[in-house]
Amino acid sequence: MVKTKVKVSDLKKSFGTNEVLKEINVTVTEGEVVCIIGPSGSGKSTFLRCLNGLEEISGGKVEIDDFDITDSETDINKVRQDIGMVFQHFNLFPHLTVAENIVLAPVELKRMTKEEAHQKAVELLEVVGLSEKIDVYPNSLSGGQKQRVAIARALAMNPDIMLFDEPTSALDPEMVGEVLEVMKRLAKQGMTMIVVTHEMGFAREVGDRVIFMDGGYIVEEGTPEAIFQHAKQPRTQDFLNKVL
Ligand code: ADP
Ligand code: MG
Repeated sequence: MVKTKVKVSDLKKSFGTNEVLKEINVTVTEGEVVCIIGPSGSGKSTFLRCLNGLEEISGGKVEIDDFDITDSETDINKVRQDIGMVFQHFNLFPHLTVAENIVLAPVELKRMTKEEAHQKAVELLEVVGLSEKIDVYPNSLSGGQKQRVAIARALAMNPDIMLFDEPTSALDPEMVGEVLEVMKRLAKQGMTMIVVTHEMGFAREVGDRVIFMDGGYIVEEGTPEAIFQHAKQPRTQDFLNKVL
C-alpha cells in the first residue's frame, strides 16, 4: 500500500495582511520526489517552512505521517526530527568542524551516542564524497562542498522526509552538478523529497511530480512531462517560456 507522508489541506498562511499561501492542497506519498517551481515571491519557501512547523499556519491542516502538526497534542519537535531540511545558504556552524556539524543534532537530541554519531558522519561523508574533509572547518570548503556537508548533516538524523529550498541557487554553476548528483542518488534510494528548485533539468529528470506555484496558489501540477511539455495554464506556460 502507498503510504502518505505529507498531507496538506486548505493550508493558508498570512504575514499581517499579506496572504502568502491560499488554500494549498498537496499530498506526498512515501518515496515520491516532488519538485516545486515558480517565480520568486510565490510562496515556495513559506510552504516548505509550514511543513516542518517553522511557520505558524493561518488556516488549514498539515499532517506528517498521520500527525497533525498544528494539534497541540502533537510533539512538533519530535515530528521535526524526522524531517531534514537543506537551505540555499547551507547554514553550517562556522566554529565547528565538518564532523562536529554533522554529529551535533543526533547527539544533542540523544538519538545517538557520540561514537555512533561519529560513525554515521564518516559514512555520510563517504556518501557525499567528502571523506577527506571530516576535520576541516566550513570556511575552507567550496560552496558545493558546503552544501554536500549540509545534506550529510540533515541525513545524520535519519530523516524520512527531506525538504530542499533552492539548494543550488547560491552556487557557482560548476558546483551545481555535484550537489544535484547527491540529491539524485538520495531520490533513487527512495527518500521522500520535496525540492524547491530552479533546476528544470533536475525537476524533469528526477521529479515524480512537478508543482507550479504562483501568487500563493498551486496553479498546476502533474508529471514532469505534463508540466514541461503540455502545460495547460497560461501562467505556467509564461513562466516556463522565461526559464527554459
Ligand atoms: P518564494 O520562496 O517563492 O520566493 P517566499 O515564500 O519566500 O516566496 O515569500 C512569499 C511572500 O511572503 C513574499 O511576499 C514575502 O515577502 C513574504 N514573506 C515571506 N516570509 C515573510 C516573513 N517572515 N514576514 C513577512 N513576509 C514574509
Ligand atoms: Mg524561496
